[in-house]
Amino acid sequence: MNFNVIVIGGGPAGLMASVAAAEEGAAVLLVDKGDKLGRKLAISGGGRCNVTNRMPVDEIIKHIPGNGKFLYSAFSEFNNEDIIRFFEKLGIKLKEEDHGRMFPVNDSAKSVVQALLNKVKSLNVAIKVNTSVESVLYENGEVKGIKLKNKEKIYAPNVIVAVGGKSVPYTGSTGDGYAWAKAAGHTITELYPTEVPLTSDEPFIKQRTLQGLSLRDVALTVRNPKGKAIKTHRWDMIFTHFGLSGPAVLRCSQFVVKAMKKYNAQYINITVDTKPDQNEEQLFQELNHLAKDEPKKAVKNVWKGIVPERYLLFLLDYIGLSEDKTYHDLAKEKIREMAKALKEFPIKINGTLPIEKAFITGGGVSLKEINPKEMASKKMEGLYFCGEILDIHGYTGGYNITAAFVTGHAAGKSAAARIIYS
Ligand SMILES: Cc1cc2nc3c(=O)[nH]c(=O)nc-3n(C[C@H](O)[C@H](O)[C@H](O)COP(=O)(O)OP(=O)(O)OC[C@H]3O[C@@H](n4cnc5c(N)ncnc54)[C@H](O)[C@@H]3O)c2cc1C
Repeated sequence: MNFNVIVIGGGPAGLMASVAAAEEGAAVLLVDKGDKLGRKLAISGGGRCNVTNRMPVDEIIKHIPGNGKFLYSAFSEFNNEDIIRFFEKLGIKLKEEDHGRMFPVNDSAKSVVQALLNKVKSLNVAIKVNTSVESVLYENGEVKGIKLKNKEKIYAPNVIVAVGGKSVPYTGSTGDGYAWAKAAGHTITELYPTEVPLTSDEPFIKQRTLQGLSLRDVALTVRNPKGKAIKTHRWDMIFTHFGLSGPAVLRCSQFVVKAMKKYNAQYINITVDTKPDQNEEQLFQELNHLAKDEPKKAVKNVWKGIVPERYLLFLLDYIGLSEDKTYHDLAKEKIREMAKALKEFPIKINGTLPIEKAFITGGGVSLKEINPKEMASKKMEGLYFCGEILDIHGYTGGYNITAAFVTGHAAGKSAAARIIYS
């Protein structure tokens, strides 16, 4: 069979590209090296499939700190509300959760992936799984097709590369597409882990003093070597055996990576503010009143409700205040120190887990060489890129998946148009 469009990669970007191209009337082949399509999509959002996000487009773009603005043009054709309508038409009812995150009502990632597959099949897209692509074939500045690992060649005038980044390689994203982009003359911006847990060799981390402790709704601030705030994110965090994780930490991680590089720093400090709605003076007054109101009680008991007990005892130890002290023998200075520790507890970060353990790959195919409306290569006729392989990355929360669907849709539609109107 002759194909107009070959899509490499059956993640959200490739599946949407296949749908969009086939809906325009193109004969589409979708090739994936895994035995199942949509594997990463199926584990997103804690395994419930975070299909998209319901925030207004401007907010979505803000939550894609890695070149989100590049997406305005593609969003004007197909946006998050279109994604919601697309799934509802496929019979997948969606519900909105915190931070605008959209999930299937039945919480079943499988049903989302299955609905996408049914749609792809209903459009007569040919699907080849367990088929690893070795390279994209180019000739005289044009795409000619693809070469598989088994050396078989499949010819088509349009190839959409949707093979994802380098993170969580067991889902199939092993960074294969960067070499194909380079071979077409593209620049690959530096790859780095984003949305990734942070590591620390602080003694309390090594000794696992706080391992497993979650802190809710903290403000985490990444600081430059002079102590100036670079970025603050407010959400939950958790102490682990190697460092820190949880949504606030994941969001801060790219700023840590960038700061380490920019300042050539071995360590970057982040500070934990457990009371973001109070300033240090208000907190001092509260701690003081609590202790004064029950002057015979030990501070560990009067301050109990302020933060989780384990963290309170840890901070008391950190400031060198005996947990059994009472208001009578408590120096005001120590109360101030406690207020400061609650507002600005510093943790030295020495890095992140590797890119393979990151949720998202930062960097990728340079956007300067991609047409933002069509996702078409400016270097090679008939070549398109979509999804995480591009130098676009967002916070977790449906933003990356939205970017994958939106760029996939643009790539599929324009690849098909190139055939139909040529
Ligand atoms: C645990 C986890 C949770 C996440 N949660 C969220 C979330 O809540 N919100 C959010 O926005 N994002 C989340 N993400 C990120 C999001 O899932 C990805 O950004 C998105 O899946 C990228 O889509 P993609 O189509 O570009 O690539 P992928 O989904 O990575 O798909 C790439 C496909 O290409 C195939 N492929 C690769 N190389 C070849 C080759 N040589 N030949 C043939 N096929 C090949 C792979 O087998 C794979 O099927 C999460 C990621 C992880 C790992």
